[in-house]
Amino acid sequence: MALKRTCPNCDGDGCVFCRESGLVWFGILEDILGLVLAYEILDATDATEYNALSDANKDAYGLIISCGMVNLLDGSPSRTKLWNIFGEGTDTRTNLEILVTFFEIPEEPEP
Ligand SMILES: [Zn+2]
Repeated sequence: MALKRTCPNCDGDGCVFCRESGLVWFGILEDILGLVLAYEILDATDATEYNALSDANKDAYGLIISCGMVNLLDGSPSRTKLWNIFGEGTDTRTNLEILVTFFEIPEEPEP
């Protein structure tokens, strides 16, 4: 099942995450399995921050991205590693935090 819901990043105003539509598709991959496509992580990555990484962290990042689909549920190895690579306050971490807010199950609408 896939739903469209108001973009949690811009609250419907339009932004890069929802391609200016104000809406995001919210499907079973995201809300049940916590998977994101690798390109979403790539899009969330700040180029300057990536370039500043150590070779070991670049290798780890490349390995995660190469999976194609990445488990970013809280506590998953990939999320833990990415969160270690991009520390608190970095643009990349901020963007990744926005990505995982998409996992939150929307509340049932009032009848
Ligand atoms: Zn948006």
